[in-house]
Amino acid sequence: MTLSGSKFKHLPHSNNSPLVGQRVLRCLFWVAFYFTTSAQVFSAVLVKQKMWPKNSTLNVVFIDGNIEQKQKVRQIAPLWLNNSSLKFQFFDNFATAPKQTHIRVSFSSYTGSTLGNHGDLSSQTPTLLLAELNQTDLPEIYANRLILHEFGHALGLEHEYRNPDWPFGQAPINQQIEHCLPRLESLGYATMEAKHKCQEINAPLNENNIYKTIYDEFSIMNYPQTFTLADQSQKHILAVSKLSILDKLAIERWYGK
Ligand SMILES: [Zn+2]
Repeated sequence: MTLSGSKFKHLPHSNNSPLVGQRVLRCLFWVAFYFTTSAQVFSAVLVKQKMWPKNSTLNVVFIDGNIEQKQKVRQIAPLWLNNSSLKFQFFDNFATAPKQTHIRVSFSSYTGSTLGNHGDLSSQTPTLLLAELNQTDLPEIYANRLILHEFGHALGLEHEYRNPDWPFGQAPINQQIEHCLPRLESLGYATMEAKHKCQEINAPLNENNIYKTIYDEFSIMNYPQTFTLADQSQKHILAVSKLSILDKLAIERWYGK
């Protein structure tokens, strides 16, 4: 695999997405959200070492893709940056882009993104893949979800179920690991290596390494999932297609002006 699976924080959603475009998303009113008082927390879950410097202009270059796909990304990805000090500057190809590029988008291979500030600004290898946008029947809100989710990773945000405040225990995480194994094996990982990697990339994050909010079920960085709670009831985490209130507040707070 040309692309190192270990660099890509998000592997394809499609196998475990009980909800995308067809269902009506519930509208919930938030009355009790807050940031933790620690200065070291974001979740949305942001990995401190992967943050871009404040006031950065991030050069986003398209390696491939058609006009419609590029336009969709140009329209949706910047929704993250309202009220932040960051900007995206888009380039149609390497010929028109500066030598240093921060996010390199391809619509090939699969869907995933490197996490945040990867330090490789000079190469021409992709850092953000959106292969699922090639599906002709992809509902618009699911395309929006994919773009926002992957650009969230590109900003340094981790999966919400890795928030140390995740309230549903290990069993749903084990489900994630089970889904992860065949995906990594399909990317060329040996079985034991895939097992180790899947445990690592699904484990709770260390409080010292992240900025976070309280657990945010409605974060764009959460995964849709269905599992059984201790009282035997079914819990459904839905696939949202918009940034949550906490997603927006987190970016404003930790990447703010
Ligand atoms: Zn992801």
